[in-house]
Amino acid sequence: KTFKDLGLAEPILRAVEKEGYENPTPIQADVIPALMEGKDVLGIAQTGTGKTAAFVLPLLHWIRESKDRPVKRGCSALILAPTRELAAQINESIRTYSRFMQCSTALVVGGARPGPQIQAIARGVDIIVATPGRLMDHMAAGKVRLDFVESFVLDEADQMLDMGFMPAIRKIVAALPRDRQTVLLSATMPKPIRALAQDILIDPQEISV
Ligand code: AMP
Repeated sequence: KTFKDLGLAEPILRAVEKEGYENPTPIQADVIPALMEGKDVLGIAQTGTGKTAAFVLPLLHWIRESKDRPVKRGCSALILAPTRELAAQINESIRTYSRFMQCSTALVVGGARPGPQIQAIARGVDIIVATPGRLMDHMAAGKVRLDFVESFVLDEADQMLDMGFMPAIRKIVAALPRDRQTVLLSATMPKPIRALAQDILIDPQEISV
């Protein structure tokens, strides 16, 4: 299978080609079609497998397809990662893969001044990439609305569990619309992650690489 076979929009294909990717990795070949069909996904995947592009490319495809809709009052996608570094990497990947289309992001992580993050959110962005702690701060301050999120990604969920983020994740999920697409990725599947998956995914396609 090629990227073209996956039905991704032309600007995304061009960006992938510019990166020198010849074919989808196994996780991409499985996850991208599932997400393009609108399914929830439970993915057991390690870093280095191409998991980031697996969820970012369909997200960009869908953002591009829905560009004609009325101006949004809140971000339409939320990506949560356990660490600043991972969140920053995901944000960079989004910029790389969206270079030939319009897509705005806000990186919402600790250790950076909150002001510019709040301004970016207020201007309106397509995607927020966040760590749970800082996102919770902005939520508590009434600075971020999540009620227009249509796509939610939880990356490295087992890491988040180890870091004690499970209560924060539960609170963030409670602020999301029920009608949304959800992706949960984890390198391992301990019981609390299984339980979380049961609660936040609807009839997910389970993919393991
Ligand atoms: P990840 O598992 O998301 O951290 O990605 C690992 C690395 O694989 C990143 O440096 C990507 O740029 C690269 N990559 C992702 N998808 C592909 C692909 N289809 N072909 C070649 N390299 C890729």
